[in-house]
Amino acid sequence: MSETKIPYKIYLKESEIPKQWYNVRADMKNKPAPLLNPATLAPMTAEELGGVFCEELVRQELDDTTAYIDIPQEIQDFYKMYRPSPLVRAYCLEEKLQTPAKIYYKFEGNNTSGSHKLNSAIAQAYYAKKQGLKGVTTETGAGQWGTALSMACAYFGLDCKVYMVKVSYEQKPFRREVMRTYGASVTPSPSDTTNVGRKILAEHPGTTGSLGCAISEAVEVATSNEGYRYVLGSVLNQVLLHQSVIGLETKAALDQYGITPDIIIGCAGGGSNLGGLIAPFMGEKLRGEKDYRIIAVEPASCPSFTRGKYAYDYCDTGNICPLAKMYTLGSSFIPSANHAGGLRFHGMSTTLSQLYHDGYMEAASVEQTAVFEAATQFARVEGILPAPESSHAIRVAIDEALKCKETGEEKTIVFGLTGTGYFDMVAYEKFNNGEMTDYIPTDADLQPGFDALPKVEK
Ligand SMILES: *Cc1c(COP(=O)(O)O)cnc(C)c1O
Repeated sequence: MSETKIPYKIYLKESEIPKQWYNVRADMKNKPAPLLNPATLAPMTAEELGGVFCEELVRQELDDTTAYIDIPQEIQDFYKMYRPSPLVRAYCLEEKLQTPAKIYYKFEGNNTSGSHKLNSAIAQAYYAKKQGLKGVTTETGAGQWGTALSMACAYFGLDCKVYMVKVSYEQKPFRREVMRTYGASVTPSPSDTTNVGRKILAEHPGTTGSLGCAISEAVEVATSNEGYRYVLGSVLNQVLLHQSVIGLETKAALDQYGITPDIIIGCAGGGSNLGGLIAPFMGEKLRGEKDYRIIAVEPASCPSFTRGKYAYDYCDTGNICPLAKMYTLGSSFIPSANHAGGLRFHGMSTTLSQLYHDGYMEAASVEQTAVFEAATQFARVEGILPAPESSHAIRVAIDEALKCKETGEEKTIVFGLTGTGYFDMVAYEKFNNGEMTDYIPTDADLQPGFDALPKVEK
């Protein structure tokens, strides 16, 4: 392998870190559907959104036409601490699989949050600071977003209140402690500190919580405290915009060696890493310049793309957030307690939902034991202990590479390795002990979530 001209790691120069984010919506003919006011069902205005979100982020959320948006210098400076991230040629994995496919992964786990989430956290904290706010509130599931936001808030001197899904709070005490080390306060959700939390606790005593529920609590705290706004780590257009830094770097690195991917694969929870990774490639596809196969991978136990409905739905369990048109399992959906691997949000980014609906990308769902098999295989040859979320993408990348082995095709596969799994050892332990099982919800399990979708004629 040493004589090949493509290095194991392609690093861009510091000066090649993108100075603008790319907004894929500018190139979409069918724009993502607008967020709706849950009371009036009219599109949310900037003014209404400004009660919940920071002003500049509202502007980005609603901007469907500006293709390139400048990254403020302060954010560029922060990016330099941990970017550019490497694009790695998975020579060892290819060798192990004996595949003619060429596999690359973009590794976003090289920062303390352990994931790509810091790319948007630092942007959101920056705009909150610039607006003169005291602090921000948010939810976190597996904990990477909460950690990333804690780091970003510490950097800009903002208060950070995190509502953490109770099951994760209990399973991952060290995640919580990292957040507290960065100065955040962390509350298990649902909690008795909010009206919506108390209501959910009364209706579902003993619940282990969900992202939708933690979102409701964080929004309530933001809107009832002067000088606070709510920030979200995925799903929203603004988050996909910030994450485009992943795809822009990936494309720049590939372009340096004249490499064109055939297949681009990413795991999909709310859609931010995938939306970011594919952004410039999707732009080419939308403009009719190039074609790529793009695959979103989700857990079979939380299958919003593959089994959800494309409909307006609440983003949160308490139904206080705006309605978003997306592939959704219904805001009351809570993944089975045996589901270990993150990616537990009931809905999906409106941008990716529209692109999927229009046939620009595919989706696949995978079972968690197969995901952890892929994670283990990857860890043993490539060295990095992957996050369970990222391992969904690894699973499908390996499957596609094995198909190439059968057909003899030398396809180029790029996937997003979104993070590391050091805080997921309870899940790995289950897998290593042979105690991990797969649970695929039945149609009957999913029906109540669909029945509870709000009735919107759009
Ligand atoms: C949050 C997270 C994801 C999923 O979120 P998206 O918004 O879909 O990208 C994937 N991988 C890791 C490591 C994460 O922290």
